[in-house]
Amino acid sequence: MSVEARLEEVKARIAKTEAAAGRPVGAVTLVAVSKTFEADQIRPVIEAGQRVFGENRVQESQGKWPALKAETPGIELHLIGPLQSNKAADAVALFDIIETVDREKIAHALSEEIKGQGRLVRLYVQVNTGLEPQKAGIEPKETVAFVDFCRKELDLRIEGLMCIPPADENPGPHFALLAKLASECGLDRLSMGMSGDFETAVEFGATSVRVGSAIFGAR
Ligand SMILES: *Cc1c(COP(=O)(O)O)cnc(C)c1O
Repeated sequence: MSVEARLEEVKARIAKTEAAAGRPVGAVTLVAVSKTFEADQIRPVIEAGQRVFGENRVQESQGKWPALKAETPGIELHLIGPLQSNKAADAVALFDIIETVDREKIAHALSEEIKGQGRLVRLYVQVNTGLEPQKAGIEPKETVAFVDFCRKELDLRIEGLMCIPPADENPGPHFALLAKLASECGLDRLSMGMSGDFETAVEFGATSVRVGSAIFGAR
């Protein structure tokens, strides 16, 4: 199957699940995760109409996205991988949405760069719903206070929450927890669901799903 056909199939599965869940068609944004794929492999997906993409590394993204963004207006690029504060300047310069804000140090660095560069980058807080030691994200019980801190102390525009459930667990309870935390924070955007579980995420209220291999093929 071509990459265009796989893109259409993913979009159709999202639409079908939205309808089955009683959600408006188009309620869920598809973030096409293009990490490890080169500009030449991404271009057909842009030509097929996709405008929202996700990458997990700042440096890799700098090698391909400035040119791709220059070619096609209206691209929206999401950073979905962990961010180090020494990369905050580069991340703010390139990405439109940073989904992985998860500690005070990075929130401070982003706040300074956003002010300094005058770029209105939209932000999500990543939550480690499975309390996995090797995984990034703030602990669920610290989420409300952290979002509050980002807003009040740093004047950051937090739009939503993001999570990556443990690979070997049923994702539903993790998606439900993220939705509950978002509502406690007064946030209505939820980035959750990947190739293996995006339909479940749509059922649990995802407003964006991050889908890589189901579109681009195996990495
Ligand atoms: C790679 C990645 C995805 C996409 O994963 P697939 O299983 O290929 O759909 C989604 N979210 C994050 C944070 C990722 O790093």
